[in-house]
Amino acid sequence: MSNQKWVIKIGSALLTNDGKGLDVAAIDAWVEQIVKLKSQSIDVILVSSGAIAEGVKRLGWEARPQSIHQLQAAAAVGQMGLIQTYESLFATHDIHTAQVLLTHDNLANTQQSDNISATLNALLELGTVPIVNENDTVATEEIKFGDNDTLAALVANLVGASKLIILTDQGGVYDADPRQDANASLIDSIQVSDEKLTKVASRSGGSLGSGGMYTKVLAAQTAAKSNTNTVIASGREVNVLTRLGAGEHVGTLIHC
Ligand code: GLU
Repeated sequence: MSNQKWVIKIGSALLTNDGKGLDVAAIDAWVEQIVKLKSQSIDVILVSSGAIAEGVKRLGWEARPQSIHQLQAAAAVGQMGLIQTYESLFATHDIHTAQVLLTHDNLANTQQSDNISATLNALLELGTVPIVNENDTVATEEIKFGDNDTLAALVANLVGASKLIILTDQGGVYDADPRQDANASLIDSIQVSDEKLTKVASRSGGSLGSGGMYTKVLAAQTAAKSNTNTVIASGREVNVLTRLGAGEHVGTLIHC
């Protein structure tokens, strides 16, 4: 039987250490868990943001700039640190990483997406962990909106992933905005076509339309096109990835 393929997306809010570059200790914990998943015949493609945050630190800037070209420049600088961090942490487990920088346009182009899919599959067969980010020099979609949520879903479609896991700084999808409503409760499991989610996805409507969930729910809807179930869970939950690997329910499952 062939290995399961999981696409795991880790966003900027989780990866940064209070805005001071990368939180290496947190990254190390996810790396350890991915190594365990791999030993359980789960192939992982990691979609990681964090380049801009690391670039801002490396360039000695006080804060994230406004100008899109400065953000792109920060991403180019920070991508070096991001990859360096993953490569050295996975190297302690004798696992190679591979840098894969993509744009939405690349994935929409048949010839290019064929090449991307063949390369990703070859990298997984070689036992590596592909680390995907937007090619921020070429494209700005994910900088402006979504922080790689869409990119991760498109990659899940391309490889026919069995799961898309979006790690975030919230526990999952709530039935109201938890920052404004103390009675908000976590949705454990929901069908991708459920109208509650459609309300989230309509952005303006619905009580769930805030809290950074909009692009995550859209990503789950995109992932469903390849029959891929999505889990949105807190990356700060202890052993979140290995617990999901063991079949435990964590966060919100958005199923087909
Ligand atoms: N590709 C960007 C990064 O890695 C997107 C995230 C962001 O806008 O902060 O930093």
